[in-house]
Amino acid sequence: MTAAKKPPARRRKTAAPKPEPAPCRTCKGSGEVSRTVRVGRKQRPVGQQTGLCLACLGSGHAATD
Ligand SMILES: [Zn+2]
Repeated sequence: MTAAKKPPARRRKTAAPKPEPAPCRTCKGSGEVSRTVRVGRKQRPVGQQTGLCLACLGSGHAATD
């Protein structure tokens, strides 16, 4: 019995380095946006609240698609 040659191991494709993700334009990369909190019928602003950026969902990176 002759030792059969092993098939060459499949080389895993190395992923190309990803380019730096562009910072989200909405939150400027912070992942958070401050929004004015308004209350009452007159919508009186009472302050600012920091919330999750809905454009990038807090990642701070601009959506690619
Ligand atoms: Zn964002």
